Amino acid sequence: MKGLSIIISLFIIFIICSSWGFFAHKKINEYAVYTLPPTLASFYKKNILLISSKAVDADKRCYIDSLESPRHYIDIDDYNEPSIDSIPIHWTKAKEKYQEKQLLLNGIVPWQISFSYHKLVKAFKFKDIRQIIHHSADLGHYIGDAHVPLHTTKNYNGQLTNQIGIHAFWESRLPEMFVKEYSFIKGPAKFIEDPLHTSWNIVKQSNLLVDSVLALEKQLDKSFSKHQKYSFIERNNLLIRTYSDEYARAYHTALNGMVEKRMASAIQQVGSFWYSAWVEAGQPDLKNLQKVTIDDQPLDINNKKNMGREEL
Ligand SMILES: [Zn+2]
Repeated sequence: MKGLSIIISLFIIFIICSSWGFFAHKKINEYAVYTLPPTLASFYKKNILLISSKAVDADKRCYIDSLESPRHYIDIDDYNEPSIDSIPIHWTKAKEKYQEKQLLLNGIVPWQISFSYHKLVKAFKFKDIRQIIHHSADLGHYIGDAHVPLHTTKNYNGQLTNQIGIHAFWESRLPEMFVKEYSFIKGPAKFIEDPLHTSWNIVKQSNLLVDSVLALEKQLDKSFSKHQKYSFIERNNLLIRTYSDEYARAYHTALNGMVEKRMASAIQQVGSFWYSAWVEAGQPDLKNLQKVTIDDQPLDINNKKNMGREEL
């Protein structure tokens, strides 16, 4: 039983943290580099592989750090407020209204974007290359997370509406299957006057899409038999049940470009947040900063106490 509960805990942590899936998170950080002006882009291009691969570090930390999980989502519906605008956008004001424990329970992604942004500004000021890469990668991750509608609701995996599996379906299966049809680059990174306000706007836009994400899949489910809806793939010598290609195509069509638009917006915003942090730090000259290699210790998820969303 203990083994089973550990597997279930790990699965829940995986669902909570792995918005966009590893594939899309890496793509978001990679494409964000191409939105930057040349002076800044040259530094990011030198380190593009590292910034892209470290895009998923924040998800990996969920397995070993109890404080990490709430940074990836915010359950707006858990606030029981008449509107999202009733939640104070400033951390100190929100803490006064709900207490920090409640905020951590409900998730803190919009505030985390602001925290990571200010760490990146500081790293630029000190021209600390390792910290610039670390916080750029993390900031890209949290901004990516905030763009996923199901990361703004307590019904994050359709578990309250009999749609279990929709989380990975929307954020992993669809982009992996249709990324070749997406168009991402919309324009250059722009200076963000108010990062906290912008991160809340991202969350609000995501939250507005939650009903469509769920309702469109519910509707589709009625026109597919179970046999048509699911298929099996082989992975590591195991047969795994997944949504069929036909069902994924139909959901993709019903969403009318939603996944592509959220991913494109994430790329644009990540570039803009990086660019703004650099400007706020006084546009330090990064020409002489070299490309670095950072060897990461592999995370041993069996060796530490795992604490996921349900345990906070
Ligand atoms: Zn995440």
